[in-house]
Amino acid sequence: MTNSDMIHSNPVPFVDMAAQHQPIQAELEQAIQTVVQRGDYVLGREVAEFESLFAKACGVSQGVGVACGTDAIALGLQACGIGQGDQVILPANTFVATLIGVLRTGATPVLVDCDPQTALIDLAAAERAITPYTRAIVPVHLYGQMVSPSHLLELAETYNLLIFEDAAQAHLAEREGYKAGSIGTAAAFSFYPSKNLGAFGDGGMVVTSEEIVAQTVRSLRNYGATRKYFHTDYGTNSRLDTLQAAILKTKLPHLAGWNADRNRAAQLYDRWLEPLAEYGIFPIENHCGSGHVYHLYVIRVSDFCGCDRLRLQSGLADMGIHTGIHYPIPCHLQPAFQHLGYQPGDFPYAEALCEEILSLPMYPGITEEQITRVVFAIQTIVKSSIGQAYPPAIDAA
Ligand SMILES: *Cc1c(COP(=O)(O)O)cnc(C)c1O
Repeated sequence: MTNSDMIHSNPVPFVDMAAQHQPIQAELEQAIQTVVQRGDYVLGREVAEFESLFAKACGVSQGVGVACGTDAIALGLQACGIGQGDQVILPANTFVATLIGVLRTGATPVLVDCDPQTALIDLAAAERAITPYTRAIVPVHLYGQMVSPSHLLELAETYNLLIFEDAAQAHLAEREGYKAGSIGTAAAFSFYPSKNLGAFGDGGMVVTSEEIVAQTVRSLRNYGATRKYFHTDYGTNSRLDTLQAAILKTKLPHLAGWNADRNRAAQLYDRWLEPLAEYGIFPIENHCGSGHVYHLYVIRVSDFCGCDRLRLQSGLADMGIHTGIHYPIPCHLQPAFQHLGYQPGDFPYAEALCEEILSLPMYPGITEEQITRVVFAIQTIVKSSIGQAYPPAIDAA
């Protein structure tokens, strides 16, 4: 069998959720059956049980299940007292849900640029964006890597800001002894199916150690009712289904192992991709070691690579290797948010990253052989597209 035959007969998916669920299928079916038979489909037993288990895993005392991660951001910030007249700082390079969550509170989002090596919010840029109206910062633990807790806490203390973490990509991530979700006043998680801990549909959670914040989210998610038919808050309907909670509770004990598997896979990628640095291929840097939970494994195809990013992506697809771009357009250049008044050029690093990034196959259970194949394919495509011009003139970049 030639290399090319091997590649074509063995596609590498971007994620493989069926493979993740197969070994625990019996447990999952049992959990679902239990809820189906008991019948407490809304705010039932497993919701409270999972809330308490997940909060504990994050190192906080309270968890409040909601319908999705976007609601967790919106309702969580609202419960922290953020609203009209407040400015909230967040990175320009995040999934749009972070921005949507902030906007839904009525607060004014203030976007800032990122660090080009880690793709995380640039806290020096955040500091420059602070005004007398700044109330909160929403760090996004992008791709599964936490923003430095010590730097965040120092900034928050100096300027009296509230920290609300968007931890939708960072379940159980750790840095400097902190767990994702435990740095600030409160944090939001998503249980969208492909997240590190995913439901069989949508789900989310606000975690906090502040009793009053948890209580307020409990009311907001349930029509603003503090008790039945007594409405004290302008709430909504945003609950985590009992069925989803039962599924998540079944999966939770496996999460640490799955994350460790992702981190191991990332280390292999890092090691085997290293020789491609001279061709302009760089992994996003990991500054938190084994605490990085690699929701995504992202490389930069820099502009001196000689192989266009989209050409690399389509070349890989031709070889059965599926990749993604997270995300192709930064928040400030999305048509929906033009009213915020940002322009191209406002956040050069975030904009450059959007052109360079490529997310490689990453999921628990990805094999060494698959990773080898991905790296070999990248190597083949990059070298062939550079052709005789290799090695590239790095100094000219
Ligand atoms: C997934 C995600 C969200 C939104 O979560 P949903 O459950 O899809 O609403 C928010 N922020 C980030 C960074 C995400 O990755």
